[in-house]
Amino acid sequence: MSVEDEREQLDLLPVDESVPEPESESEVAVLPWYGRPPRPEVDQVGIPDSMTCPVPDDEGRTDLLARLGEDLSPCLKCSLGETRTTFVFGTGNPDANVMFIGEAPGRDEDLQGEPFVGRAGKLLNKIIESIGFTREEVYIGNILKCRPPDNRDPRPEEVDACEPHLHRQIKLIRPAVICALGRIAAQTLLKSTAPLGKMRERVHQYQGLPLVVTYHPAALLRNPNWKRPTWEDVQLLKSIHDEAVAG
Ligand code: SF4
Repeated sequence: MSVEDEREQLDLLPVDESVPEPESESEVAVLPWYGRPPRPEVDQVGIPDSMTCPVPDDEGRTDLLARLGEDLSPCLKCSLGETRTTFVFGTGNPDANVMFIGEAPGRDEDLQGEPFVGRAGKLLNKIIESIGFTREEVYIGNILKCRPPDNRDPRPEEVDACEPHLHRQIKLIRPAVICALGRIAAQTLLKSTAPLGKMRERVHQYQGLPLVVTYHPAALLRNPNWKRPTWEDVQLLKSIHDEAVAG
């Protein structure tokens, strides 16, 4: 089945409409960086001393990311380390241009050790495919690497403990654009209390990179009316990606 067919089947995307412009072009224009960042030096990445090696090429970055995940997997920096089944580091292309970030693993993710599996994961795959990528071409992760009990929201002390792990991932992958999935992820990353509707349709910054916000796939499963705005959000994501890659 082609991407177009899947898109129509999903009823996710208004295929005959033009890509919407950001609410304010100045929000994009004022970004100090609007291209892909330079490959990081190892000491900028903050890799543990045991992992120091020459500045990584693409293959080296794959190894470093894998080793970073292995090194962090025994983490007990917060209490979630005591209750998790599996440390869920992330999945996808270590050289991805696009990175999706959710809030934390859920039950299925905790059991399988991979972010965004199950029905929400399948829908995320469709969303990714709708802008011309595959799940394997992008990188998918969460702010927290361990599941909060009963899928409760992350607590501030857990975010403080775990966010440095995410920073290390981002500095190794150095994506062209980040997409925050859902209100909690967006509020946490942007240190904001704004509702999701206020954070969408704008280009924010996180760790010096452009970041856009859209609905969590699980929310889309509950409310299909949000599929259309999600389509708009990922079109903005794609336009930022395309401009960054072209630049
Ligand atoms: S949630 Fe993050 S900080 Fe807390 S134990 Fe897991 S990996 Fe460590």
